[in-house]
Amino acid sequence: MSVERIFDNTEVAFALKSDSELERAYFLFKMISIEPLVRIGTAATNFAIKAHLPVEGLIRATVFDHFCGGVSENDCLPVINKMYEKGVSSVLDFSVEGKESEKEFDNARDVVLKIMEFSKELKAIPIAVFKPTGFGRFYLYEKMGKGETLTSAEQEEWNKVIGRYDGVCKKAKDYNIAVLIDAEESWMQDAADALVTDMMKKYNTEKPVVYNTLQMYRHDRMDFLRKEHEKAKKEGYKLGYKIVRGAYMEKENERAEEKGYPTPICASKLATDENFNDCLNYILEHLEDISLFAGTHNEESSYLLMDLMKRKGVEHNDSRVWFGQLYGMSDHISFNLSNLGYNVAKYIPFGPVKDVMPYLIRRAEENTSVAGQTGRELNLLSKEKKRRKTL
Ligand SMILES: Cc1cc2nc3c(=O)[nH]c(=O)nc-3n(C[C@H](O)[C@H](O)[C@H](O)COP(=O)(O)OP(=O)(O)OC[C@H]3O[C@@H](n4cnc5c(N)ncnc54)[C@H](O)[C@@H]3O)c2cc1C
Repeated sequence: MSVERIFDNTEVAFALKSDSELERAYFLFKMISIEPLVRIGTAATNFAIKAHLPVEGLIRATVFDHFCGGVSENDCLPVINKMYEKGVSSVLDFSVEGKESEKEFDNARDVVLKIMEFSKELKAIPIAVFKPTGFGRFYLYEKMGKGETLTSAEQEEWNKVIGRYDGVCKKAKDYNIAVLIDAEESWMQDAADALVTDMMKKYNTEKPVVYNTLQMYRHDRMDFLRKEHEKAKKEGYKLGYKIVRGAYMEKENERAEEKGYPTPICASKLATDENFNDCLNYILEHLEDISLFAGTHNEESSYLLMDLMKRKGVEHNDSRVWFGQLYGMSDHISFNLSNLGYNVAKYIPFGPVKDVMPYLIRRAEENTSVAGQTGRELNLLSKEKKRRKTL
């Protein structure tokens, strides 16, 4: 590969971290790397929150402040501004999960609309995001996806879901910002995909505004992409995709086994990696029709994307290619890329401490289970601590 290996530069990676923030990050990843501790910690935290024990302060001072921007969108502003000074944009992610009432769905929509008002003023937030189940009941997506007929009350409810998507996507087009729609479990995703395709048809007429998400741990996603591409070319609209490996692997495999159907997940990590990289290749071949937001902490995939851009003569800051990482993770990728002028955005989760717990638990478990990832963070943090000591 012909691009320079830039991710080892810890001075650039951690330029925004004070010495004490560096220490806290090191301590946190050290804790997270101990699997039994995460298991016990997760159970104890869930219990403490349910029992209304006063643990919020402790959570805030540790995992929350590391992985989240704050409890409200305003809270996140200092982080957003600081990162933007280094060329890294923000995607404000209202990470409240598991709410299922109409009022809460409307509230989630209103939060996204409010963030879009921020975006209008702030160049640092060029992209909005929401989760399908933030705007409608899981059960409804599942029922729609199975092709079952909805009752008239359910149909009315579904129309409201469509209305929420439409309100956000229209505003994205009016304000010239992109909106990413996350992907979730495969057994609700078909209905979300169909809805997002409708939004692309309506709003991506000149350029991609609406982006769906492809989870490349699913072995059917390349076929899906090719078919969506054919359809878009025929009907004359552009496509936008966030591509990720996928966050629900254990759940997917367990359900498939329990219900006795073949798992939708690739047979191995290597197969997922190849699928992800094939997708990067495909999109870079068709940038005139498809824009890309590559959501990954994988260094090799990031190098591959840089290399593909170079080989195809795509400028670092071409608006059709973005790199994305999560706040609190892989700063060595984000800040070294932005240092070279690539488009980079970090998802900044925010919300009340107890409501973002499912998100935080996923991050802790992911960092425990992903072989190498925590080790890599620890090595880089330790390298930077040593570098600073020698100054
Ligand atoms: C900006 C951003 C947005 C995201 N949005 C979403 C989203 O909308 N929906 C979503 O589901 N996830 C999302 N994720 C999370 C993402 O799917 C991954 O869980 C996470 O990024 C880890 O993958 P990685 O590419 O960073 O790399 P790696 O650490 O190289 O890969 C780990 C991933 O590989 C896959 N994998 C691991 N072992 C196996 C195996 N044995 N067989 C097959 N596959 C395996 C799993 O997907 C696992 O998460 C997002 C991540 C980022 C950075």
